[in-house]
Amino acid sequence: MPAQMDYEMEALLDGLQEFGAKDFANSAILFMDVDHFRQLSMSLVTGEAEELFRQLIARIRQEVRHDDVVKQVGRDSFVVIQRNFHSKDALFDMCLRLLRTAHEPFKIRSYPILIRFSIGVAAPDASLGLEALLRRAQIALQVQKNAGGAGFRFYTPLLENDLARQNTIIGELAAALEDDEQIVVHYQPLVTREGLSVVGREALIRWQHPSAGLLSPADFLPAAEGAGLIHPLGQYVLQHAARLGRRCPNEYVAVNISPLQCRSVSFAEQAEATVKRAGCVPEQFELEVTEHFLLDEEQALATILDLRCRGFHIVLDDFGAGYCNLAYLRRFPIDKLKIDRQFIHGLDRDERSFEIVKALIDLGHALNLRVTAEGVETQRQLDLLQDTECDELQGFLLGRPSPAAEDSQAEPLRRTLA
Ligand code: C2E
Ligand code: MG
Ligand code: MG
Repeated sequence: MPAQMDYEMEALLDGLQEFGAKDFANSAILFMDVDHFRQLSMSLVTGEAEELFRQLIARIRQEVRHDDVVKQVGRDSFVVIQRNFHSKDALFDMCLRLLRTAHEPFKIRSYPILIRFSIGVAAPDASLGLEALLRRAQIALQVQKNAGGAGFRFYTPLLENDLARQNTIIGELAAALEDDEQIVVHYQPLVTREGLSVVGREALIRWQHPSAGLLSPADFLPAAEGAGLIHPLGQYVLQHAARLGRRCPNEYVAVNISPLQCRSVSFAEQAEATVKRAGCVPEQFELEVTEHFLLDEEQALATILDLRCRGFHIVLDDFGAGYCNLAYLRRFPIDKLKIDRQFIHGLDRDERSFEIVKALIDLGHALNLRVTAEGVETQRQLDLLQDTECDELQGFLLGRPSPAAEDSQAEPLRRTLA
């Protein structure tokens, strides 16, 4: 463990001293921490964070027994000590209940605030004292956060390796950002359903790792988000995409946006400046957001409105995969829906998927949105989609993600990040 964590541990133990007299044997420790609180706090005024945590603690208390300990131990972290542990299943259920406390928005001002948090759990171990248990819970928490947050994780000794690996990835990724060769962008074509002609390309980030080979976003984006590296990475992808846009003025370029990027108030302005610097107009770009993005409603709405005012098109990606809250379609001004690939894969297997896909396309069209089907892999899927009104298609059958042809002439990363 880094020294910094040891210091925090001392402060933590001090904070829990008032409970010291009681017996912690047979107690489970849950270490909770709000995801990406630093970014959220930038939009809060004095007193609002305190009010948010007051409400959160009240909700947590409703889910624990009266003799359990609930204690705020840092700006946005909490420890719950569950006494008289009796089973892992019960602890598992408690974690689910705790996570659910954040499903309802918090009313701090006139509008709601949504948060997500992560929990690291250490089950009791008669051979360990409070400090060792806290440390285990902290490790589990850190692994969960590095993997994207919004969930819980039980400590196992294997997590120590995971944490070491994640920390290595974060360090290497920061160094990769200084390297001209390692971060690469592949592009996958989007084609019209009628005629199958290419109308756009989606930028997909890759990491050409010196020893591990080509890594896909799932291998490093969660850790990048946790470490704040998503901002330079996102900016790099947009710059890269803008250069492709300049070379292919008759095609649009789609770029995926992380929810964290939009929390920076200057994001829309920066995005506009980036594409204009490359000699393009925002109208040539589609920014893809997921439902996860929309959870932070007010901030997402403000960013989307700003981006659209500047001319960008907004796409709701992976539509139908998550909570699928149809209220989003009413509230958020978007231009296009991308039907999640699970429904497209289902086309090969069952009649129902076909009916769902058709209904999602009709829903999009009724709302004046264009609709793309993603993940088209087989001829049968393509044939079935040809019997629908879907506007565009994307998938391995129609073109795999690959480097843009002129990539060898790409400007060095260091310079473009400046
Ligand atoms: P996404 O935006 O839904 O991108 C589509 C993913 O599906 C890509 O995976 C693509 O390679 C894959 N795919 C395309 N056609 C098919 C198909 O026919 N079958 C199957 N099985 N898969 C197909 P990839 O590149 O691994 O990206 C995964 C996710 O990572 C993306 O999902 C997107 O959410 C995120 N991502 C990728 N690049 C960026 C980026 O630059 N910034 C951000 N914030 N997220 C990114
Ligand atoms: Mg996408
Ligand atoms: Mg998608």
